[in-house]
Amino acid sequence: MARLEGKVAVITGATGGIGRAAAALFAEEGARVALVDLDEGALRELAVSLGEDKASYTVADVTQPDQSQAYIDAAVNRWGGIDVLLANAGIEGTLATIPDYPIDVFDRVIAVNVRGVWLGIKYAVPAMRERGGGSIVITSSTAGISGAAEMSAYNTSKHAVIGMMRVAALECAPHGIRVNTVNPAPIETRMMRSIEEQRTAAMDDANVNVETMKQSYAQRIPLQRYGNPEEVARMMLFLGSDDSSFCTGGVYMVDGGRSAGGR
Ligand code: NAD
Repeated sequence: MARLEGKVAVITGATGGIGRAAAALFAEEGARVALVDLDEGALRELAVSLGEDKASYTVADVTQPDQSQAYIDAAVNRWGGIDVLLANAGIEGTLATIPDYPIDVFDRVIAVNVRGVWLGIKYAVPAMRERGGGSIVITSSTAGISGAAEMSAYNTSKHAVIGMMRVAALECAPHGIRVNTVNPAPIETRMMRSIEEQRTAAMDDANVNVETMKQSYAQRIPLQRYGNPEEVARMMLFLGSDDSSFCTGGVYMVDGGRSAGGR
């Protein structure tokens, strides 16, 4: 049987690289998916490609309480309830040391990556309690368990959601709601292209280009490559489904061995 048969999954950041892969896999595994992101055209296109009998969408900025409540309400109204929240929307911010880091960018990264996840949980939990349980999956990162110079806002945000996940797991366990993070290493999406480009520009070295920058990131991963979005989506599927029925409060690496250490 399909692993998400009969379940409804809300996915934020749904039209990005990882969100899109998760939406496709969840729909393939029988879920009804409620897609959330900023761009209506991209959302509509994705919903149509998945099939409108399987996918709905809501334009929402996850930093806004009213819009967060609205995307939960829309999913409940369309599909009758919520079983899975994939709190995945995120931004990378910019690259700068803390003294030089722009305060407005810091605030925006924390707003999207921390407050946005918190608001998602805040409004999803009552709906999941109505349903008798559920699973919340938060996209953290290897940046959530280690530092990276010049990425203070991003790394802070990805550490913060691990703490948030642990609190939510404790609060939600009595209600049959499990809460976990998925922590990817560099994955082939727009976000890594942006980080490679910013890092290359900051180096200002004729021997370094975006391609060599990517290689140097990949070489720090024991499997010697970036992951692809589908590889992350498969962990999200496991955590969203009843296959992970005894898993809550956990940090799940999808990192090609990056967190094991090494060069
Ligand atoms: P992406 O940029 O392709 O997707 C992110 C999506 O989030 C975009 O579609 C964007 O529009 C959406 N988003 C941003 N701000 C939003 C807001 N305020 N409200 C609603 N939606 C918003 O990047 P991705 O790689 O697919 O990232 C998905 C998640 O994975 C992020 O949380 C990211 O931090 C995390 N992550 C990515 C990598 C990687 O290497 N790509 C590694 C570890 C963790």
